[in-house]
Amino acid sequence: MADLVIMDGKSSRKQINAVIKKIQDMGFDVNISRGKEKILIGIIGDTRLLVDEIFVNLPGVVKTISILKPYKLVTREFHPSDTVINIGDIKIDSSTVIVIAGPCSVESLDQLLQTAKYIKREGGKILRGGVYKPRTSPYSFMGLGKEGLEILKEVKARTGLPVITEVLSAQEVEDAADVADIFQIGARNMFNYRLLETVGKTKKPVLLKRSFQATINEFLSCAEYIMKEGNENVILCERGIRTFDSEFTRNCLDLNSVPLLKRESHLPVFVDPSHGTGKRELVIPMSKAAVACGADGLIIEVHPKPEEALSDGFQSLTPSMFSQFMKEITPFVKASGKTL
Ligand code: PEP
Ligand code: MN
Repeated sequence: MADLVIMDGKSSRKQINAVIKKIQDMGFDVNISRGKEKILIGIIGDTRLLVDEIFVNLPGVVKTISILKPYKLVTREFHPSDTVINIGDIKIDSSTVIVIAGPCSVESLDQLLQTAKYIKREGGKILRGGVYKPRTSPYSFMGLGKEGLEILKEVKARTGLPVITEVLSAQEVEDAADVADIFQIGARNMFNYRLLETVGKTKKPVLLKRSFQATINEFLSCAEYIMKEGNENVILCERGIRTFDSEFTRNCLDLNSVPLLKRESHLPVFVDPSHGTGKRELVIPMSKAAVACGADGLIIEVHPKPEEALSDGFQSLTPSMFSQFMKEITPFVKASGKTL
């Protein structure tokens, strides 16, 4: 079995093309990752019956590797250096901690604009705001839909902040495409394979949240669905899993996943302590912990009047708590060798 052909970085174009042709002639797709020293050619498809001997004598080939995992493109074996995602002049990589903040749901122009201006002033880099809400009860507030997209567009234009919004269906991907800088795939849709393929085809950055019932293996396999369609701009987001105590916390924020995912994958790893805990008073301490264990970003719910929020008010920070949050995470960001 072979999943990855490693070629010498000095291989000629002709040698590289010969390897690519061999792979494609057998009906596989290729994905190339070029480093200074090595060129990695990933073989995409069911490689279980592919014998590695067919590559070893080709000029330029150093060796082949078999990745016995249900995912491939997301692994560090395949892509040793960290993925860097550019959103305008914002760079998401392991040298920074990017703060995404905003309300759970977009409720009005005034609500979003006020929140966005505050967040920007305090150092938040990206604005969050849901317009299509995946609610547990079908009778809860479902988001403003297209009206919400117009509000996001206006606030983005007025503040210059890039925006992230959740999409639940292929139609919503199409509708949100012209305003969203990042598509959010929520915990409830992590396993929606068709939706993952749809956002994979767009090539726009995707923040994929871990389902509350997903193992790390399943989480990475779902990221693979997006990458397999040619979209390399995937951010993994830990947002808590379900354990047995729902009395004190909404979810159990599994911070084990942060160093694990960073080791296993080259993708940026973000943490959502708002949904991960479900309690605003836990957001600051768990954000510090997330940064301390290597998170590349945080996604935080903030509302000008949480007590009046149409969703998730109980876990939303007030504006003044957001200022406190920025102040308190700063030393942790510095200690982890990153910048805000
Ligand atoms: C959200 O970000 O508002 C949300 C619904 O998140 P999750 O999918 O993590 O529950
Ligand atoms: Mn929410």
